[in-house]
Amino acid sequence: MCGVLGIYSKEDVSRKLFYGLNSLQHRGQESAGIATSNGEELKRHRTMGLVQDVFKESDINMLEGSIGIGHVRYSTAGGAHEFNTQPLMGFARGEMVALGHNGNLINYQILRTRLEEDGMMFQSTNDSEVILYLITRYYNGDIVEAIRTTMKLIEGAYSITLLLKDKLVAFRDPYGIRPLVLGREGDDYIVSSENAPIEIMGGEVIRDVEPGEIVVIDDTGAHSYKLDEGETPRNCVFEYVYFARNDATLDGINAYTFRRRCGEILWEESPCDVDLVIPVPDSGIPSAIGYSQASGIPFGEGLVKNRYMGRTFIKPTQQEREIAVKLKLNPLIDVVKDKRIVLLDDSIVRGTTSRKLIDRLRDAGAKEVHMRITSPPVCHPCYYGIDTPSRKNLIAANQSVEEMRENIGADSLSFISMDGLAEAGKKDIDHFCTACFDGNYPVDPIII
Ligand code: AMP
Repeated sequence: MCGVLGIYSKEDVSRKLFYGLNSLQHRGQESAGIATSNGEELKRHRTMGLVQDVFKESDINMLEGSIGIGHVRYSTAGGAHEFNTQPLMGFARGEMVALGHNGNLINYQILRTRLEEDGMMFQSTNDSEVILYLITRYYNGDIVEAIRTTMKLIEGAYSITLLLKDKLVAFRDPYGIRPLVLGREGDDYIVSSENAPIEIMGGEVIRDVEPGEIVVIDDTGAHSYKLDEGETPRNCVFEYVYFARNDATLDGINAYTFRRRCGEILWEESPCDVDLVIPVPDSGIPSAIGYSQASGIPFGEGLVKNRYMGRTFIKPTQQEREIAVKLKLNPLIDVVKDKRIVLLDDSIVRGTTSRKLIDRLRDAGAKEVHMRITSPPVCHPCYYGIDTPSRKNLIAANQSVEEMRENIGADSLSFISMDGLAEAGKKDIDHFCTACFDGNYPVDPIII
């Protein structure tokens, strides 16, 4: 998972990009970077860390120019190394270009091996570098043609911003797996993984970049190009389940509304007789509100979240993940003591979070702890940019719901159905990529 951002303006953009990246921080906390163009040459600053720590005032001042792109990274393909930070930069026929990528290619290894056999020397272990290489290789002055040729070769999920000295380009894979939004603020054009940066800059969303679309923004305005063959969109449903901010409206669905509806639907599908509905903050909050409103059972804040902790999910060892869950969420004894509670969370992946939380809620005096999950069981890895572990570590791939219930120590456990998920999004289930739940991958994953 990553966040991408691009701005085409008549004024310096580095500060705007810096603010915008702050509102995409939830999409990647490992590294951040900005590249800008002053019309002649590109400048770049990128390193490991959170946006606030990566950019000092002097870095923002150094990044002069009125066109720019920004990136926040959470590694999937390629590890957490300085050399994998983005935007990537290179030369296409002597012209500087920079690229930011959200998503994952599934045929990256094959393409990389071929390019290496051709004598290319890579500077990272990032799948995104393959995209940059291909674009520069096919560029002969016509960027749209170079991207079209590249898009025919790369397979998987990609929402990309590309910076040339006089252009901002954005393009999205033919299934539109990862989000990409186009907006305007005055004369400025903004492309972003989510709408928050556009709104924070005082702008308005125009529309989503369409699956398979290439948008080129230059001094003559924004121009749209399409790949020859269209595909049916398969937007990642996990964006709405967990990843995107509550205020994100992506491909016509608002994440908060979706999550609240999931809570209402879960009440219809799996009611339970309890005293309090408690969310696992933050992503469980809207669904707990929905569950509470639909059932009439009071909503309670039974867990206090430490907002200064990063994401626990990506800690490398199980012991670290368990300590991190404790540090991140602490039960509120006054609220949960002697209560029968239902806990709402967005997903169970390895089972670490639920197991720890249920343990601690019982220690804090909760009489019963029921668990309701606003996604179906995650049984399959994601190859398109979400860092799900392999099948052997996915609890739902190896255990029945009853075994999982016992394993996490809940009094009852239910997951939303696939139909419920479709109903929450008010779209046919085929509209979404649901591969992590049902193994129905829109682009066949190539496992080497
Ligand atoms: P686990 O503890 O492994 O069962 O993970 C489930 C918890 O991690 C849930 O509370 C989710 O909010 C969160 N989560 C699920 N998927 C991801 C992801 N790809 N990256 C970070 N956190 C996640």
